Amino acid sequence: MKRIYNFSAGPSMLPLPVLEKAQKELLDYRNTGMSVMEMSHRSGAFEEIISEAEALLRELMSIPDNYKVLFVQGGASLQFSMVPLNLFRNKKADYIHTGSWSKKAIAEAKKYGDVSVVASSEDKKFTYIPDVHRALLNQDADYVHITTNNTIEGTVFAELPDTGHLPLVADMSSDILSKHYDVSKAGVIYAGAQKNIGPAGLTVVIIREDLIGHADPTCPVMLDYSTHAANDSLYNTPPTYSIYMAKLVFEWLKELGGVPAIEEINRSKAKLLYDFLDESKLFASPISPESRSLMNIPFTTPSSELDAAFLKGAKERGLETLKGHRSVGGMRASIYNAMPTEGVQKLVEYMQEFERNNR
Ligand SMILES: *Cc1c(COP(=O)(O)O)cnc(C)c1O
Repeated sequence: MKRIYNFSAGPSMLPLPVLEKAQKELLDYRNTGMSVMEMSHRSGAFEEIISEAEALLRELMSIPDNYKVLFVQGGASLQFSMVPLNLFRNKKADYIHTGSWSKKAIAEAKKYGDVSVVASSEDKKFTYIPDVHRALLNQDADYVHITTNNTIEGTVFAELPDTGHLPLVADMSSDILSKHYDVSKAGVIYAGAQKNIGPAGLTVVIIREDLIGHADPTCPVMLDYSTHAANDSLYNTPPTYSIYMAKLVFEWLKELGGVPAIEEINRSKAKLLYDFLDESKLFASPISPESRSLMNIPFTTPSSELDAAFLKGAKERGLETLKGHRSVGGMRASIYNAMPTEGVQKLVEYMQEFERNNR
């Protein structure tokens, strides 16, 4: 069997023990004589899977009881629409602009109301996280939106900003479960599954109960949070297999020691790469040190010829999908929870070798 180190930004690596467990249960899930893929979402076996998945996520993130956990479809991108459709009352919102994903979220919200970009890092090509303090915020805004980890640019908020009484809405697609977040500081957290949770097709929404039930009557039923909240995410057929896989990932993470354990691993994994980048005379990190992501690490060489040679050699060594996003160029290593430390060690060893041969 061939397994590579896949540095893809998403869909991305899944933990090997999770894939092995899924393989073992693929044809006959716990003596039901069928695969989870073939199972009714109303069956007892599936109801157990979805409720265990929710319970595990609640435990891993210490989600307070006054928050609902919703398993929906449409990706994080559909949340760019669902958030304004459900949260607008004054039809005003504040957005922090930190990169390509916040740009899309802003464009979508503008269709439904007044959007103020109250802080932005566009002046320096999104290589840092701007300061967000209460004085910047419009007190009649319905919410304040941030992208906690900027997958494409490689920045992360050091902590969730204090928005006072205004609900904070956080797109956590690329760093949910990677480090500690105090859920009670946010009104809504959402994340597409395909980075740190499981396969594509599932989107997790964590929402404070008082924010549910205010959508306009013309809001499509599937886009109204109250539909999913009132039906335990079983209003229609949910992405059953992705929910099952997410449950296996949550079990794996819990066994590992939960979020505190993975955070320590993630910090040391990222440090390996950043320490090398800071020493290197060939490679560089464009990101301001205090805003550096633990999950997505862009880096550059002095020329596109060296980039191409680097990527070619990387692939030969089983280090794949390291090409940077077309909007940024260079390289990007996405090292989510499931990327083993050895993958990062192998990458750094290859970078050292490449530097010796190209100076
Ligand atoms: C990947 C990503 C998205 C888009 O997710 P989809 O599930 O493909 O819609 C949105 N925001 C962030 C921060 C992401 O990393």
